[in-house]
Amino acid sequence: MARLKVLIVEDERTISDVLVYNLTEFGFEVQAATNGLEGIDRAKRFLPDVILLDVMLPGMDGLEVCRQLRAGAETKASKIIMLTAKSEEADQLVGFNVGADDYVTKPFSVRVLIERIKSITRRTSADDEPLESILVYGSISIDRTKHRVVVDNEHVLLTASEFRLLETLLRNPGRVYDRTELIESALGADTLVLERTIDVHIRSLRKKLGRYADRIETVRGVGYRFRELQEESNE
Ligand code: CA
Repeated sequence: MARLKVLIVEDERTISDVLVYNLTEFGFEVQAATNGLEGIDRAKRFLPDVILLDVMLPGMDGLEVCRQLRAGAETKASKIIMLTAKSEEADQLVGFNVGADDYVTKPFSVRVLIERIKSITRRTSADDEPLESILVYGSISIDRTKHRVVVDNEHVLLTASEFRLLETLLRNPGRVYDRTELIESALGADTLVLERTIDVHIRSLRKKLGRYADRIETVRGVGYRFRELQEESNE
């Protein structure tokens, strides 16, 4: 069976890289473009089944790209899923009626996105692979089934405790966890550990996250949180 073709039009390298990696891994045939004109050009030649289209693009914005794709003879059949930064942008999409088929709000999980892609193309083949439980944040992705963490397309080796700590923090970015909560979720409630143990694990986890070390913020007097992507990326 021919693989489903997905074109990603996204100027943010980190997001694009993570999508290319995970969607290819899932079994889709993937191409990527970093701006609207390149996106339209690629769409004409690649004839993707699905186009993941970022709203905020340099130059021609995603809404205009969407209109042109819809108007193009070669591209009007492609399904378009808009990637929006805020729910207000999603409202705009509906308001402007640009012809998108669906949208997802950032940050999104790859699992959700794959589900949307599958449902939009209405493929219900029996040999579909089971969905993997992948949680993605920027260019960090963690695969809960395989217990694997990928940062900037490189595998990072974490201990079981570090993995659970990262998973807990990433599940609710921005939320502050106190040390007791982290001990319960990462080490198990029945483990007798000093609160300081968490600090040791966090220190080691930060070291392994390299340039993302400071994403895990110390909240003085309370605990830790994973800093939200929107707090620094501003498109
Ligand atoms: Ca963007």
